[in-house]
Amino acid sequence: MFIPFIDLKAQYESIRDEITSALQQVLDHAGFIGGTFVSTFEREFAAFCGRRYAAGVSSGTSALWAALHGLGVGPGDEVITVPNTFIATAEAISRCGAKPVFVDIREDTYTMNPSLLESAITKKTKAIIPVHLFGQTADMQPIMDIARRRGLYVIEDASQAHGSEYMGRPAGSIGDAGCFSFYPGKNLGSYGDAGAVLTDREDLDRNIRLLRDHGQPKKYRHEIIGWNDRMDGLQGAVLRVKLKHLQSWNEKRRRNAVIYHELLSPMEEIILPEEAGYGKHVYHIYAIRVRDRDGLIAALLKDNIHCGIHYPVPIHLQKAYRHLGLKRGSFPVAERCCRELLSLPMFPELKASQIEYVADAIREYLRSGMRIGTAT
Ligand SMILES: *Cc1c(COP(=O)(O)O)cnc(C)c1O
Repeated sequence: MFIPFIDLKAQYESIRDEITSALQQVLDHAGFIGGTFVSTFEREFAAFCGRRYAAGVSSGTSALWAALHGLGVGPGDEVITVPNTFIATAEAISRCGAKPVFVDIREDTYTMNPSLLESAITKKTKAIIPVHLFGQTADMQPIMDIARRRGLYVIEDASQAHGSEYMGRPAGSIGDAGCFSFYPGKNLGSYGDAGAVLTDREDLDRNIRLLRDHGQPKKYRHEIIGWNDRMDGLQGAVLRVKLKHLQSWNEKRRRNAVIYHELLSPMEEIILPEEAGYGKHVYHIYAIRVRDRDGLIAALLKDNIHCGIHYPVPIHLQKAYRHLGLKRGSFPVAERCCRELLSLPMFPELKASQIEYVADAIREYLRSGMRIGTAT
């Protein structure tokens, strides 16, 4: 058996005809950039997330940048986020000329620890970016309460949480803005780069539409200095097809997580992902924690099982962010998670028999005595 970490071909096979006809329509209309395929997707995705506006952009990274810049975040400002996220969250802050400030994460959900938030706020703080990691939202209520009290914007990085929920509310519908990536491997993935910013604020939506298209409300009338961050028509068409399947794909991910849980929970050496009581996890990533991660990865690879690590190095310890002067030990929970988290194969088309094969391989490895100890 060969178990890939993710299998985009299997998903494509299941929707091949729908995709072919959607792409053909874009070609027939020559609607390559922006246009009706993008605007229709924007409407449908806004409705899916229960938001008034959605603006399609060229990537999740651009979405984060446009949301920050569109809210007026700039040089001299600080934006609070977490160190265990994809680098784009911090890059978007830096590209605005602002400074990323980190707070540590919760041990159970791997998302922002709201009880550490207040002490990270300074006079310069403008915004907070909680990251809905692995398919589970951050604990938004206390974050929103603090933000409202201190007059800060909240931008949700929902790039890993399409269709996830917090207290019955869709991810991306709670903060001032919700940013999504449609990178191919995400729960809702395009066939190239794409992203979106969702908001209920008309002024922010307008700013984002200006920023993504050279600051022009009308062709060659440039109100502000923008950039080229537009979404392709082909991506809009693909995303419209895939949005119809998102709920059922998320349910399959959840079913796969249940199977993993049943098979892995007897193994005391590993810590399994927890679904917080406040929401609905959509398992973009199924990450376990294990002390001897490298040994387990090597053993699984021998059995043709491919895993991932999200993320091996926290942002504050990346060379690119050395100038912040943050030392090892600054964010102990995030740092420990970066050492111990291992992402197992997870995608909707993954079969129960494949999950059993993965679980057997893990059990075999733990039994072999090569383990060093339990995750902390
Ligand atoms: C994927 C991802 C991004 C960046 O999205 P791109 O579309 O690749 O630019 C940002 N934040 C998080 C948490 C992500 O997982």
